[in-house]
Amino acid sequence: MRLRWVVVALYAVGQLGAQTNTRLEWSQPFPPHKVIGNVYYVGSSSLSSFLITTPEGHILINSSFEETVPVIRAGVEKLGFRFGDIKILLASHAHGDHVAGHALVRELTGAQVMVMQGDDDVIRSSRAGKPCKVDRVLHDGDEVKLGGVTLTARHTPGHTKGATTWTFTAEEGGRPYKVVVHSSTSVNPGYRLVNNRDYPEIAANYQRSFRVLKALECDVFLAPHGAQYGLAEKFPKLGRGASNPFIDPAGYRAFVASQEATFLEKLAEQKR
Ligand SMILES: [Zn+2]
Repeated sequence: MRLRWVVVALYAVGQLGAQTNTRLEWSQPFPPHKVIGNVYYVGSSSLSSFLITTPEGHILINSSFEETVPVIRAGVEKLGFRFGDIKILLASHAHGDHVAGHALVRELTGAQVMVMQGDDDVIRSSRAGKPCKVDRVLHDGDEVKLGGVTLTARHTPGHTKGATTWTFTAEEGGRPYKVVVHSSTSVNPGYRLVNNRDYPEIAANYQRSFRVLKALECDVFLAPHGAQYGLAEKFPKLGRGASNPFIDPAGYRAFVASQEATFLEKLAEQKR
């Protein structure tokens, strides 16, 4: 009996250690950089955070882990902006790796936290990090406006109940570009797509989200993990050639198609 508790305790410590390692590993600094127009990357090696600047303050998408917040802050300042000028804090979806730092960023900046319906209760609870106040609950198609910039929130649930894809226009060289910050539609290990008691409509939600994502116009493709949009390969090309490597409509379509194929495969597997 005693041995069993020792094993359980060791397992728990191991898990905790693994989580701490992941948080630290994923929070390694990455060079902050301008993506296009007024859109900047201020995230870490694995976790994307995007800063959208305006004359009236800034919008931040994703706070990542608490451990990542100093990396984000340093990135914002290295680019010449003030962290305290962040007025609005948004998210891709309410998993800890993108929102656990929300309460800390809100505390440090006083930013308004705006969250899609379905993820709002997760942010308010301790399920994805320290509980954080939600200042505005969003619905599909809602607009977030600041300093002449308008972001549209598209509800693309499945990965979480309130997963959000952000769309807006950025200008560079006098040309408008349609930016899409994909919510993530991956099917994590352990996700139940069939007979899911906590989320019965999960499969239908994924299917609807793929329809929405396939219909979006996208010039500049961004996502909550750098690996999802080829950050490591695209970043070194920035400023080298004539075109901006983040303008990648084909990459966006390929990513959505591969995520949908994986989803359909897992759905078929679970139905068997
Ligand atoms: Zn996630």
